[in-house]
Parts: sequence; C-alpha cells; structure tokens
Amino acid sequence: MTVNLLDFDAAGLTAYFAELGEKPFRARQVLRWIHRFGQSDFDAMTDIAKSLREKLRQVASIVPPAIVSDRLSDDGTRKFLFDVGGGNAVETVFIPEDDRGTLCVSTQAGCALDCAFCSTGKQGFNRNLTVAEIIGQLWQANRALGADPNGDRIISNVVLMGMGEPLANFENSVTALRLMLDDNAYGLSRRRVTVSTSGLVPVMDRLRDECPVALAVSLHAPNDALRDELVPINRKYPLHDLMAACRRYLEKAPRDFVTFEYVMLDGVNDSDANARQLLALTRDVPCKFNLIPFNPFPASPFRRSPSPRIRAFAEILMNAGIVTTTRKTRGDDIDAACGQLAGQVRDKTRRTAGGVFTIHEEKLQ
Ligand code: SAH
Ligand code: SF4
Repeated sequence: MTVNLLDFDAAGLTAYFAELGEKPFRARQVLRWIHRFGQSDFDAMTDIAKSLREKLRQVASIVPPAIVSDRLSDDGTRKFLFDVGGGNAVETVFIPEDDRGTLCVSTQAGCALDCAFCSTGKQGFNRNLTVAEIIGQLWQANRALGADPNGDRIISNVVLMGMGEPLANFENSVTALRLMLDDNAYGLSRRRVTVSTSGLVPVMDRLRDECPVALAVSLHAPNDALRDELVPINRKYPLHDLMAACRRYLEKAPRDFVTFEYVMLDGVNDSDANARQLLALTRDVPCKFNLIPFNPFPASPFRRSPSPRIRAFAEILMNAGIVTTTRKTRGDDIDAACGQLAGQVRDKTRRTAGGVFTIHEEKLQ
C-alpha cells in the first residue's frame, strides 16, 4: 500500500516529507502540483528532482475517488457520482451562477442523523469519507470543469452541504477545509467556504476555534417540539443551546451573520405563526435566512409548500429586516437538488442512535 498524498494538508505533507528526509519547501512544491495544477503523475512535476520523483513513485500515490457518472442538468447544474469503494457512492454538485461557481461537497457516505425530510438521512449511515475522498471531489471537479490554474476560478465557492454531516466527520472535514483555504492549494477565501450543520453544538465550538469559515445552520423549525421531530439531533442540542452556539461562533467567524437554512414543508413548518416564532427565536443572532423549497424523493411523507406560501413566509422575515432568500431549485431533473442526494449506501446497520456521532463525542471529552 502506498500513501495517498491527497490525505494530507500542508502540515501533514510537510511531516510526511520530513519522514522521507525531505525539506518543507519540497512538500510545498508537491502540494502545489497536486492541488493547484491538478497533477497526479509525479513524472510531470518537472521542478522536483528526479530522485525524489522516483522515491515518491515507490512509496506514494495521488488517488482521488473515481467518477462513476457525470450528468449535466438543463440549467447547467452538474452532478458527479463518486465511487468510494465497498458499494458506496457519494455525490457532488456544481452550481454555476452569474457571479460565482459553487461546488457542493459530501463528507460522509450516508448520514446517521436521520432528519425526517432528508433523502441522505433515509439512506442510513455507512462511514466517514477520508480527506482524500472529500478534497478529491474538488480536485476531480476542477479537472472535469477544465479549470485553468492561471485563469479565473471556475469553482469560487465550496459548501460542505452534500451528503452527510460535516461536523460528525470533524477531523477529515477540517483537514479538507485547510486545503481549500491554502494558497498553495485552492486558495479560497474563508468567506467563500461554508460548513452546513444540523447543529452539533460542541463541534461548532471546535470549528470556530480550529478553522472558522462561513456557517450555515439547518434550522427547519421555530420551536423544540417540532424540531425534535424534524431534526432529531435537536433532542440532544435544543434550540436555546443552538442559538447560543451561533452567537459564540460569530465571535470568530469570517462573516458577521449565520445563514439559517429552512426547508419549506407544506402545512408542517410554513405558517405565518411559525415565521413570527422564528423572529423571536433568532432575535439575538445576526442572521440571514435561506428558504429551501422541499425537494421530494421516493416515499417521503412531505410536500413542498406552495410558492405563494413561501413568499408570504419570506415577507414576514424580510419585514423584520432579515435578509431572506429562497433557494432556486436547481438540477432537479437529475436529482441534484438539496436533499435528493442519495448516492448509494451499503450497510445501513449503524443508522439508529447516531452511531458515529457518539464515538466522535467521546473523543471530545
Ligand atoms: N448535514 C448537513 C449538511 C448536508 S444537508 C446539514 O444538515 O446541514 C444540506 C441541506 O439540505 C440542509 O439544510 C438540509 O436540511 C437540506 N435538505 C435535506 N433534505 C432536503 C430536502 N428533501 N429538500 C430540501 N432540502 C433538504
Ligand atoms: Fe444528515 Fe443533514 Fe440529511 Fe440531516 S439534513 S440527515 S444532518 S445530511
């Protein structure tokens, strides 16, 4: 087995090169080749001494997850399906807009948190993605989109908002984030990299301390009774604690607001009264709202709120001075819209009781 260099951020690669008896600047050069120039062939790294290239060929490799399908939606959204072995596949979605290109990246094969309206959650949980599998989605997408290292960025923004809960795979997600931010790798600004979480409160504090980036929180309900049902992790970290964690996060965040994501479920969480409750709930948290029309998937018990209802709901928030956007449903002809990402997950045995998260939490103590 060779060592996969896609698993390392700058610090990790430097440490690995030290083991090989190589200087830190060599690690920096190789990091640039891998991530900035999208190179996976050591022989093409022309400013690296031949002897080092030879050594690397023997002990190391650069192996991203393989693309199993690559589909283009009528609206330009592009969905990649990646094989992550063992019968599992994860999805990555590229969303081009006038002023930016956003890549939505997955962090787990499946998800253990089992939110009621989420297709990924309903698939169950298989395992955390490795760093190589997380950053490899960006590496592969850059290549497939024909990114020119000297030209304008095609992917200007990354959101950890695909399959899985990034904060339940904290170490690997953060190592991948560091690569996204590193000038020798992807050089994205902290403001253009967003972690979306369903609200793992203690890990939100860790993210703030170790790698603050823009934060999106999947709120979806204005009170604990309803959120307990829709987002079961709320039973562990209720709204009062979540709002406090958001305020703490903002002390160190690169942006001065949290984005609250709110899936619009017909007759469930979309009344005027719900909107007013949200105003009260978020009074002390500088925030924006992103309303997501529910995207149906087979056997889901919910319906999408009608457009006039979504507009009326948005109006209440906006009249109170909260910037509110409604997410355009993109890529639904290829099942690439939010919550439709199902990939393919084998071995669902570990879904209930939030298996992984429990393990992770033990490490936090
Ligand atoms: N686990 C993280 C990130 C992945 S989910 C989180 O929950 O934030 C990304 C977003 O899609 C979340 O806001 C999630 O609530 C939303 N989502 C999930 N299922 C959806 C569906 N069927 N329709 C619309 N949005 C959905
Ligand atoms: Fe997991 Fe996010 Fe889906 Fe909830 S919404 S099940 S946390 S991926």
